[in-house]
Amino acid sequence: LRTAADTVAFHATHHPRRTALSCEGRSVTYEQLHRESNRTARSLLAAGAGRGARVAFLGKESEHYYEIFFACAKTGAVLVPVNWRLTPAEVEHILRDSGAEVLFVEREYADTAARIREELPARPAIVGLDAGDDRGAGFREWKAGRPDDDLAVEAQPDDPVTQIYTSGTTGLPKGVVLAHRSFFAIRDLLAEHGLDWIDWHPRDVSLISIPGFHVAGIWWAMQAFNAGVTSVAMRMFAAHDAVRLIREHGVTTTCAVPSMLQMMVSEPGVGPADFASLRKVTYGGSPISETLMLECMEILDCDLGQLYGLTESGNTALCLPPSDHRAGSPRLRAAGRPYPGVEVKVVCEDGSTLPSGAIGEICLRTPAVMVEYWGMKEATEETLADGWLHTGDAGYLDQDGYVYVCDRLKDTVIVAGENVYPAEVENALATHPAVAEAAVIGVPDDRWGEVVRAFVVLRPGMSASPRELKLHLQGRIADFKSPSGYEFIERVPRNPSGKILRRELRKEFWAGRE
Ligand code: AMP
Repeated sequence: LRTAADTVAFHATHHPRRTALSCEGRSVTYEQLHRESNRTARSLLAAGAGRGARVAFLGKESEHYYEIFFACAKTGAVLVPVNWRLTPAEVEHILRDSGAEVLFVEREYADTAARIREELPARPAIVGLDAGDDRGAGFREWKAGRPDDDLAVEAQPDDPVTQIYTSGTTGLPKGVVLAHRSFFAIRDLLAEHGLDWIDWHPRDVSLISIPGFHVAGIWWAMQAFNAGVTSVAMRMFAAHDAVRLIREHGVTTTCAVPSMLQMMVSEPGVGPADFASLRKVTYGGSPISETLMLECMEILDCDLGQLYGLTESGNTALCLPPSDHRAGSPRLRAAGRPYPGVEVKVVCEDGSTLPSGAIGEICLRTPAVMVEYWGMKEATEETLADGWLHTGDAGYLDQDGYVYVCDRLKDTVIVAGENVYPAEVENALATHPAVAEAAVIGVPDDRWGEVVRAFVVLRPGMSASPRELKLHLQGRIADFKSPSGYEFIERVPRNPSGKILRRELRKEFWAGRE
């Protein structure tokens, strides 16, 4: 298997009747997915959306999403998934920037899509995903009458297949162009070295928890499709649904962001028995606290693998394997080590490589790396300077090649010239029994330049005063890192991939200064 087009064709031939995807009671077999994506591919070609055309999708997780993804893979078009949580202005930016020629849209977003379309120079053709919707051609009618037999496919591993807009914790989102190889490279490297990524069994059942508009969501779904196993998708993530689906479908594996795991293991009445079918759970996308890791080890009670990566790295480049998930292991704080064939270095501001232990920017060399930022030559060159992907993450390597992520460089708080990494303070706060979650930012301070401020969500029925929290931190982190102000809030603002939206918290303090 070298391209997504191969994936669905291969499994349709070898186990046509196996369920490829099930979502809210509807399921499609590998044969149906293959045939329907042939039909959709022909309709895309008839609509003029062939090689290189951008095809956008605005909707929640469904079998349609993957059918359209495979159709794009077969025609050479590039799927642009749009995060349905975005505001209309943000959606407009993505449609305009990508120059999408066709827009698949679910009924819920049809009015918004129709309004946005009027503003766009490319005037994409709108295809309504709910049959009988009169605001656009219904998907079923749109592709009806086209043959579903195989079409000539010329896909190559380096051909772009998707353009994912980075979650954009700052500024306008950039379109990260990923080729087929991003979904195959790590798997192939591991196979080359006689290692089997995740060790798939034909009877595995995978839960798609992370939405497909995020790189980790579509990447994970593709790993399951590549393995030819059955996936169960949630329209949108909710912890109680995830726990229920795991039980009902005997889910054996999933990939989640830490905040999803946090919600799952804290569901009232949930315990190891609810997760008995799980064999392996991978997680990543944002830092995880040691407390949550230990909780997952106990409650999920299965192999855990941490993944580290970026949209730009084609998802995972580092992995912390199950063998390092042991209570008391010094590696529990690591994000992982590179896969064989992936390289890591840590550099300082002038670009020179730092020795192990020194904190600098983490740079990666991976065959899964993005093609480019769409239409942004300079930003692409800057991020991929000298053949290395500059991650914008601050971290260090240990003697054994494990990578420790301290934080995103731009989140660094500088208190009187000393760097403070918010994640470190958040982890320390999370060790207090009354703290459910914490988010830390830097706020301007006349004396010190910046000081640390913490936003804390308390566990239901528990309390902790700022004084108590301060005492708790004493000895755990250096005094200059200890927050000088606390605010108790109900919920930490996060983007759909679980990252803390520090900008949201910063706003009131930095207004007029940034
Ligand atoms: P995105 O492109 O939205 O997937 O975000 C990528 C960023 O998520 C990285 O640059 C890291 O800051 C963060 N991230 C991803 N995986 C991990 C991990 N395992 N530990 C800590 N941070 C992570």
